[in-house]
Amino acid sequence: NYNFSAGPGVLPTPVLTKIKDEFTKNEFTHMSIIEISHRSSQFEEIIASAEERLRDLMNISDDYGVAFIQGGGSTQFEMLPLNFANRKNKIAVLDSGNFAAKAATAATAIGKTAIILDSSKDDKYHHLPMLSPDFHADDYDYLHLTTNNTIEGATYHQDNLPKTTGRMTADMSSNILAEPYDVNQFDAIFAGAQKNLGPAGVTVAIVKKDWLAEQNIQHVGSMLRYQSYLDKHSMYNTPPVFSIYALDLVLEWVQEQGGVDSMYAQNIKKSSKLYDYIDNSSFYQALVDNSARSLTNVVFTTNNLERDQVIAKEAAKAGLFNLNGHRSVGGFRASLYNAQPQEAVDALITFLKKAEKEYK
Ligand code: PLP
Repeated sequence: NYNFSAGPGVLPTPVLTKIKDEFTKNEFTHMSIIEISHRSSQFEEIIASAEERLRDLMNISDDYGVAFIQGGGSTQFEMLPLNFANRKNKIAVLDSGNFAAKAATAATAIGKTAIILDSSKDDKYHHLPMLSPDFHADDYDYLHLTTNNTIEGATYHQDNLPKTTGRMTADMSSNILAEPYDVNQFDAIFAGAQKNLGPAGVTVAIVKKDWLAEQNIQHVGSMLRYQSYLDKHSMYNTPPVFSIYALDLVLEWVQEQGGVDSMYAQNIKKSSKLYDYIDNSSFYQALVDNSARSLTNVVFTTNNLERDQVIAKEAAKAGLFNLNGHRSVGGFRASLYNAQPQEAVDALITFLKKAEKEYK
């Protein structure tokens, strides 16, 4: 059985086994992980380890603070402008998909101005919107980017990131640690854990300390200020202990696999195999521009949404779960996060071949 869900995504089997084994019989505390105090030395070790591993995996320098926050990516859509859109009260957005558009709406809802610089919505987000050469970074507090568009499957890879002299923030919720990014090109990064990092309940935020220090935001509630988390090592209030524990185990697993470069090589291999099959088939079609194709969310269709649904249902019967595209776009979406083994892609291709014969 393989799980192709876009989120929560598949987790590494050794991590799940470890969680199961350790859950009720921790020798150190004689308590389960969901009963220990966040003030205990055991948890202090866990959260420090998670931060250290993330810094190691992403090469995060001391210029950045790392915070573990509840509320998911959606809360970050509000926290980012609350914390950083204070000089111009205005952010620039490249509308590359549903979650970029949501970030713009959220910024507006909390009283800031969000300007959509370019959008690929009319093309169903099959290509990436880009910065025009006459973009004036000084007119905005920052540019908001979604590196990987989870629903539509288009990605700003490291080599096609927009280049700006201004501040840039990134929502990396669905491809953090799946491919390399130079953290130094960003002023803030966030990612909900539940796709590539662990279970839902914790969101990682990486913020540039000097940019944060420039902000005068006494009017913003303390739970919505990054500084509150940085000052208290993400223990300003009770953190999601279990989610951070599981996140630390996933990060340990990624380190054991050889880090981001090794995950990237695996992810290229998995996704290319699937895209190659789709491109060579006259039955299935992947609609996203070649250079922008996502490694983590492969979106495709038979160009007949009803037939797609029937085939996805058949796939589930065969043990290939959650292949339906997002309800807003239909079709298929195979999420190939770090923990997805190569065998899952092989099994999927075997199934798709069979379905092609049957339904063509
Ligand atoms: N950003 C991206 C790229 C996502 O894929 C998602 C969720 O799927 C979100 C933000 C929203 O995250 P959450 O559900 O944690 O609020």
